[in-house]
Amino acid sequence: MSITVLVVEDEPAIQELISYNLKRSGLTPICADNAEQATVMVNNILPDLVLLDWMLPKSSGLDFARQLRRNSRTQAIPIIMLTAKTELEDKISGLDAGADDYITKPFSPRELIARIKAVLRRRIPEISDEVIEAGGLKIDPTQHRVFAYPDDKSSTVTEVKLGPTEFRLLHFLMAHKERVYTRSQLLDHIWGDHVFIEDRTVDVHIRRLRKVLENIGKDYLVQTVRGAGYRFSSEFDTNNEKKQMNNACNITS
Ligand code: CA
Repeated sequence: MSITVLVVEDEPAIQELISYNLKRSGLTPICADNAEQATVMVNNILPDLVLLDWMLPKSSGLDFARQLRRNSRTQAIPIIMLTAKTELEDKISGLDAGADDYITKPFSPRELIARIKAVLRRRIPEISDEVIEAGGLKIDPTQHRVFAYPDDKSSTVTEVKLGPTEFRLLHFLMAHKERVYTRSQLLDHIWGDHVFIEDRTVDVHIRRLRKVLENIGKDYLVQTVRGAGYRFSSEFDTNNEKKQMNNACNITS
């Protein structure tokens, strides 16, 4: 999965240095010289992270950060501020404006990349390639495979075959387990923004995902939260528990 980083920096040499190092680390840079250009770019494509210089011509980096945070479409994009300023007060106003991290110039490219990856891991875990294990499932984004571990250890590990959308859906929910997402949030994260699909599409894919998980007795992991949305949880929710209990009663009666 390609991760796009918008670099807003007016000094060509620094812009080039950053761009080169991002590409070397497998990230996709898009560059803007000022906030106006950056605004146009963000309107076209939503970047996964913004690397933002504090001192820009005309509108400052700080103003651009505030602008991103004010808009519902861009408010969740992680921002790293880049600056020559080292004053504590500047740092505080940067973080107040919604920056996730702060790097002072001069910086080592290695440190820059490490900080970017740390912010990405923290803010958008579903774009990381790390293997996630939860609720007896293991999802491996690099191999694009899902495995199920049986509750009783005597049976063997099975591979769970999912369609591409169900895979992304499961990966996203597992990366943010226990958190509830509305249909429109799931549409934004999994189908991307600027895509106009009905909310009901989400339900269709959730149903397909559950159907596959049902075969291995793990459909309870993908839960409906009434009036709110969906979540991945390895805990039985009360409704599911009731259902289980009813099933148990039916068996004994
Ligand atoms: Ca500058």
